[in-house]
Amino acid sequence: MERKILLSTPHMGDWELEFVKEAFATNWIAPVGPHVDAFETEFCQLVGTSHSAAVSSGTAALHLALRLIGIQAGDEVFCSTLTFIASATPITFLGAKPVFIDSDRISWNLDPELLSTALAQRAKIGKLPKAVLLVHLYGQSADIDPILAACDRYEIPLVEDAAEALGATYKGQNPGTFGRVGIYSFNGNKIITTSGGGMLVSDDSELVSQARFLATQARDPAPHYQHSQIGYNYRLSNVLAGIGRGQLRVLAERVAARRRNFEIYQQTLGDLPGIEFMPEASFGKATRWLTCLTIDPEKFGTDREQVRLALAAQNIETRPVWKPLHLQPVFADCEYIGGKVAEGLFQDGLCLPSGSNLSDADLKRVIQAIKRVNAVKT
Ligand SMILES: *Cc1c(COP(=O)(O)O)cnc(C)c1O
Repeated sequence: MERKILLSTPHMGDWELEFVKEAFATNWIAPVGPHVDAFETEFCQLVGTSHSAAVSSGTAALHLALRLIGIQAGDEVFCSTLTFIASATPITFLGAKPVFIDSDRISWNLDPELLSTALAQRAKIGKLPKAVLLVHLYGQSADIDPILAACDRYEIPLVEDAAEALGATYKGQNPGTFGRVGIYSFNGNKIITTSGGGMLVSDDSELVSQARFLATQARDPAPHYQHSQIGYNYRLSNVLAGIGRGQLRVLAERVAARRRNFEIYQQTLGDLPGIEFMPEASFGKATRWLTCLTIDPEKFGTDREQVRLALAAQNIETRPVWKPLHLQPVFADCEYIGGKVAEGLFQDGLCLPSGSNLSDADLKRVIQAIKRVNAVKT
């Protein structure tokens, strides 16, 4: 059996270990510390935001974001349906309820027209949601302007889950920085990683300092331990922030490498019958965090699942596109607004190995394996 090719693996540069050594040398082995401060400052400069708080995960960042915009038990939050479960679980942590919204075809992200219509209908019956949670999937921005305009019309705060979209652009600016608050993830499979970590960003300095406060057990200013609110233990460790500082320095290279993977896949597989790649919408630049394609079984000769299994048999990891959250058993009682776009993408969609550290030989193996499935079936 040949070596396993994974979907997306960590890819360290030259600086990460130096920063980690510095944390050891100075004994800053704690949550908070100079690397955390520097990581936040450098992150702000990189994505173009004024304030950020480094936390232990993207999920934690979203939990804080939703709490800080005032989401409470019984509230409703509109949320993209085509996404990872962690986009929506923080809504439920607060006792609120997600309402899931379908995707458009140009970006695979939340459909602005559908949102606009849904908000107008909800306004009529006096049942507007308390927030809109917009996800930027697979390294591509959603069409933010019309979404933001729809939110502004009813004064609904926009929260952006840009966990998968660091390094992408929307009209020249990184998604995650347009709404009231945005979040990013540095989990092991993301475009850059701290092994685990997340970032909350906002132009509202008070909101971000409240995020830091809640992330460190909500300690009131007093020499003894005094608390008048419930907080969390969500701060990022100084050691991991050191890894993050190193990773920020190579982000542009990582984006370029992932886009190159995509280009090679597209050049070699784009002409196969029934294969279509995730489009790149004209309003931005995608990072191609994962290269995703859809397989039309009629034209290709076999379906997505058979392709996935054939590649798995050759020790190549691929994965179906996210199962829409409105189809998840745990959200069976949640409202869904939309048609069959996300469902279709889930049915036919496949994510290919996309790491920035894939070798040309790895890419070739994946490409040959897919071509072979097609040749056998047609
Ligand atoms: C990874 C991810 C998250 C969660 O981030 P963690 O750091 O793993 O908690 C949230 N939303 C999306 C879309 C993600 O891909």
